[in-house]
Amino acid sequence: MRNLSSLVIPFPNFSQLIPEQIEPALKKRVTENRDRLTSLLAQSSFTWNNLLIPLEEMENNLHQLWAPVSHLHSVMESDALRSVYNACLPLLTDYQTELLQNEVLYKAFQSMVDSEEYKTLSPAQIKIINNELRDFRLAGVNLEPVKKARFAELQKQINQLSTQFAENLLDATHHWEWHITDLNALAGLPEQALQLARQMAQQRSTTGWILTLDYPCYSAAIKYLTDRALRQRLYEAYVTRASECGPNAGQWDNTVVMEDILKRRQELAQLLGFKNFADYSLVTKMAKNPERVLGFLNDLIACSKSAAEKEMQELNDFATSLDAIDQLEAWDLAYYTEKLREAKYAISQEDLRPYFPIQTVLTGMFTIVNKLYGIHVKECHGIDVWHPLVQVFEIRDAKQTIRGYFYTDLYARPRKRDGAWMDDCCSRRYLADGRLQIPIAFLTCNFTPPLTPDESALLTHDEVQTLFHEFGHCLHHVLTQVNYQAVAGINGVPWDAVEFPSQFFENWCWDKAGLALISKHVKTGEALPKAVYNNLIAAKNFQSGMHMLRQLEFSLFDFCLHLNYDPQKVLQVQATLDEVRQQIAVVPIPPFNRFQHSFSHIFAGGYAAGYYSYLWAEVLSCDAFAQFEEKGIFDSETGQTFLTTVLEQGGVKDPMELFISFRGREPTIDALLKQSGLSFSTE
Ligand SMILES: [Zn+2]
Repeated sequence: MRNLSSLVIPFPNFSQLIPEQIEPALKKRVTENRDRLTSLLAQSSFTWNNLLIPLEEMENNLHQLWAPVSHLHSVMESDALRSVYNACLPLLTDYQTELLQNEVLYKAFQSMVDSEEYKTLSPAQIKIINNELRDFRLAGVNLEPVKKARFAELQKQINQLSTQFAENLLDATHHWEWHITDLNALAGLPEQALQLARQMAQQRSTTGWILTLDYPCYSAAIKYLTDRALRQRLYEAYVTRASECGPNAGQWDNTVVMEDILKRRQELAQLLGFKNFADYSLVTKMAKNPERVLGFLNDLIACSKSAAEKEMQELNDFATSLDAIDQLEAWDLAYYTEKLREAKYAISQEDLRPYFPIQTVLTGMFTIVNKLYGIHVKECHGIDVWHPLVQVFEIRDAKQTIRGYFYTDLYARPRKRDGAWMDDCCSRRYLADGRLQIPIAFLTCNFTPPLTPDESALLTHDEVQTLFHEFGHCLHHVLTQVNYQAVAGINGVPWDAVEFPSQFFENWCWDKAGLALISKHVKTGEALPKAVYNNLIAAKNFQSGMHMLRQLEFSLFDFCLHLNYDPQKVLQVQATLDEVRQQIAVVPIPPFNRFQHSFSHIFAGGYAAGYYSYLWAEVLSCDAFAQFEEKGIFDSETGQTFLTTVLEQGGVKDPMELFISFRGREPTIDALLKQSGLSFSTE
């Protein structure tokens, strides 16, 4: 076992992060890196040790400075941090593009491929060199100077526009609220959401209740409020955020931002000789060509459309019989869906909350990974964090070797970006002096916060599933045994395979034995009763056709938008979305719906022309899980095989190769259809 002095665990000093000092520090670091690169390239020949190791160190130094800043910009935004972030982003993009467009550096990499040393390098080292050569070409290293400069400019503008998109959405979300003074208006709202609304009012020194567009508040309100007009009001405010419609029409409007991003992505792809951004994006993905992506999505549409139509009919009939609703509107869907779920399966997400206190869920989840992979997770205290509710955990393997750390930041709050995600704080790598850097991950969610810091947060099962998903990403990042940053953990993994380990791990929060470990009634200590468990499982595939179609709508919209974008045409974003909806949507969508204006995944995240990745990776994850269903859900031998063939491998090998080494064959779509209760037959 290595002793601690041979390890480097670079926890950032969040409390010492002062906005004014960030830009000077970044400039200094970038200048140091530039100078160092100049001297590196002055060498007469290039080897792994004299080129790649220093480059990795330079990259790591920059990442360690920027990762905490970028993280805080997402989860603890402030005016000062926003302006610093926006000032720094172009510096960073310029530096990165300049590095990848450096012809001397490119030639140095090429010379390594032709060297004697190359034949002796490990698969990870070879993969890194080849990825780099590909990335040089994808950054325009071979372009003539004018086009090169244009590429760099476009890259910088795209990054700035993406940030603006996210900031508009954040501002739009936090600049709308609804004040209520009559409790009767909130009929139907669960106790926890009610108390949250009360707390919102108290925080603003006013009476009554305040509803906001923060996801925990919005999702409870849209599902449970009896008052149809109030649901409509909330729905309209939510789906028109950052657009030219709705209560804040035209403020923080993303309409032009989206067009500007698409225009630049298209130009960038064409500069490199690609027809469109979708083709460009697929160079680094598993799916390889647009035909495969479209074929895959169309197959899934064929499998789910008729099921979705039937589910919608059932919902319609139910609303008619319950409340004499003759026309279901968009703001009725979640409400009657919950009512129907309760009627059919006697189960409500809200009623499940007392069974899932966060501490029980975390402890149970850690027991599950202990059974599967022999690893131990425990909380660490005394580490500098950015918010009192943030926790830090350490992961050790069966031999008690430290494998990595992760921060959890689980609850929604103002000026925190919506959604749930995992991000890397640092990656596993060996330093030049032989010490090992331990990987660290950020796990971020937006769950309903506990009402007081002493109380336990109570999760819905949906939230539990989200936690499992993000923890799956964490495991992938920190359990890696790859010793080179560029292909360690999630680094270098093709985007459409990144969701494989995360979706895969969700399965354990649906399993009976898994549920027994993660549930315990907050007051009675009772495990999830058998009847409740049966209902939860029975309800698992409730509206799975509609759910699948929704994912397909997002995927197809994103992909077609980037595949067919034509800068000459106006209002293409809306037109593309309308076309896709015409083809597949089975639910009512009002003309003011501007979902696309808040579609951060593709306009402010990495999923452009890649949203299909969720479904693509689900084929892998369902089929991999089927192996556990065959061998036993906690079969440690199967767990060990998954650990060593997939989780530890990072981005060294092709994901298909990894899958085959675990499963013994290529994946098929059958397990996904079976798990979702869908089939190829149109009947
Ligand atoms: Zn994910």
